[in-house]
Amino acid sequence: MLNNNFAESHMRIPFLNFEAFHSPIREEMVEAFKKVYDSNWLILGNNLDQFERSYAKFNETRYAVGVSNGLDAIFLALKSLDIGPGDEVIVPSNTFIATALAVSYAGAKPVFVEPDLRTYNIDPLDLESAITPETKAVIPVHLYGQACNMELINEIALHYGIYVIEDNAQAHGAAFKSKPTGSWGEINATSFYPGKNLGALGDAGAVTTNNRILADRVRTLRSYGSRKKYIHEKLGYNKRMDEIQAALLNVKLRYLKTWTQQRQKIANWYIELLTGVGDLILPFVQPDATHVYHLFVIRTKHRDKLHEYLQKKGIGTLIHYPVPPHLQKAYKYLNIKQGQFPVAEQLSKEVLSLPVWPGMNENMVEQVSSEIKKAFNQWVSQKQKSFTA
Ligand SMILES: *Cc1c(COP(=O)(O)O)cnc(C)c1O
Repeated sequence: MLNNNFAESHMRIPFLNFEAFHSPIREEMVEAFKKVYDSNWLILGNNLDQFERSYAKFNETRYAVGVSNGLDAIFLALKSLDIGPGDEVIVPSNTFIATALAVSYAGAKPVFVEPDLRTYNIDPLDLESAITPETKAVIPVHLYGQACNMELINEIALHYGIYVIEDNAQAHGAAFKSKPTGSWGEINATSFYPGKNLGALGDAGAVTTNNRILADRVRTLRSYGSRKKYIHEKLGYNKRMDEIQAALLNVKLRYLKTWTQQRQKIANWYIELLTGVGDLILPFVQPDATHVYHLFVIRTKHRDKLHEYLQKKGIGTLIHYPVPPHLQKAYKYLNIKQGQFPVAEQLSKEVLSLPVWPGMNENMVEQVSSEIKKAFNQWVSQKQKSFTA
């Protein structure tokens, strides 16, 4: 039928569609919820224990400690290393603000370092030149899902005697030289915010480490500085992951590998279809790194126009991120001027994230790509017309 054909070839494609990958696991998720509900054990129980064991195994670290969210995971990692007032911590200039905020919450000073223009990950050479006697740690972010060059970063950190804390919020399942992200730093943080590659049905996060003492510190700090109920050794916090989220994450973790493969397949379709289109710059994956495509980010000088064009065509895209942390009002007190981090500022004007979610099929990727091609063709012919006129 004509109507159906029309619907088929012009579907709306949202930036993210939970339905597509949540509906096949609905029964299992509901069952997991029911079990917690019927157990009446809602905080610090078997589900969290199990998730911590499974996630540690998945991440190839000895320990994982479930916490309230990704921001708190970075914060608790910093606290476990006794990082605070007077200390500097290096973070990428083009990250999501949480990376820098965690440093501020700990009372330390975030020091921004520019990314490499090809990978968008922190530039190890710039990192080296930002290290001062006050520097205590660096937080590399595996941005958009691509692993940083952890070998080089660890080497530099070791040389200068600073800690590495990976922000693995966007890269569950990625690896550098076959070693998972989140297993390279002294203690690492991740987020299970619903939209991440592994997402809870609410807020959750974790730290991962091979260091028993640090894992134990985070365990204590996340729960009122207490190891034994009503006995408080430290001024702690309430930053726990609850049983329901842990139970749901236990189910979803089993699908993460499959979902990652789907994301990579979608990314490869995009790359095939979009290579050479307009002035587009497509993701570049550095040797030895894997990319789990939390986001599929393209770059173009016509970003705003393309964003608007696709929106009109019913295709959802987002900008990660439109304002870099150093230009946020919240960080005005750092007194960083516009132009001081030109790479991050350029990226904030050029990046656009296309839809990528498990369950997206080849037709959808083709539709997004063909709309992008049409947009560029239209603009080129408009330019030619105005030139000849
Ligand atoms: C999502 C995210 C965080 C924060 O995670 P929340 O769970 O939302 O607190 C931190 N860093 C990066 C790079 C992120 O993408």
